[in-house]
Amino acid sequence: MDGSTRSEHANAFLMGSGKNKKIVLYDNLLDQLTNEEIIAILAHELGHYKFNHNTKSMLVQISSMAFYLFLLSQTMYSLEFYHSFGFDEFDPGVGLCLFSYLYQPLGNGVAAISNIFSRNFEYACDRFALELGHDIEPPLIQMHVNTIYNLVVDKHYSRYYNSHPSLMERIEHIEEWKRENGWDKRRKPILIEARSQENDNMAPAHETPTDTDYDDMYINQYLVSSFSKKTQ
Ligand SMILES: [Zn+2]
Repeated sequence: MDGSTRSEHANAFLMGSGKNKKIVLYDNLLDQLTNEEIIAILAHELGHYKFNHNTKSMLVQISSMAFYLFLLSQTMYSLEFYHSFGFDEFDPGVGLCLFSYLYQPLGNGVAAISNIFSRNFEYACDRFALELGHDIEPPLIQMHVNTIYNLVVDKHYSRYYNSHPSLMERIEHIEEWKRENGWDKRRKPILIEARSQENDNMAPAHETPTDTDYDDMYINQYLVSSFSKKTQ
């Protein structure tokens, strides 16, 4: 998708349902990420495909709409409802207006419940990418660098208002998964070996770091330097 003419923001998503599913990648994502990072993003999107998240999201949306319409039908045609607000008779315009005011706080609660589903979908797909052996953490950080979203979002605020977990929440979740599944044990020995060889030879490293050459320290440094550049 041509996203670069609009902004620097890079994104990817799965659209459609049934046989007509498509993974959409923004063109600036292809410029900003390495091949391995793009594959990790694709793996995440394939997770949405595999777990049928689009259909499930649609069911959640339909249920919340049905709940709204059910409550509306229960109040709109009740004379008591109009009387309690000082109106004598049934008036659909007034009814709709009053109901939308009344529904607002309840609607926030419903949105928060639907956020639980969509946030869990994101976590599940991050895990799916990791299980396939693709580190989703670096591309998520890279994509975040080029947006102007807040980095530190309050946990409760995020859960209530945001359909996607914040970057820090996702990193936390990914790190936990990596710890539990020995990701570091699987990957780090290669890095440690390479570094100790460098030290033994006392020679400068000729090899450029590979895409898998990330560790926590590197990511943190990268995050801090990229963000300070962005905010200057
Ligand atoms: Zn996703």
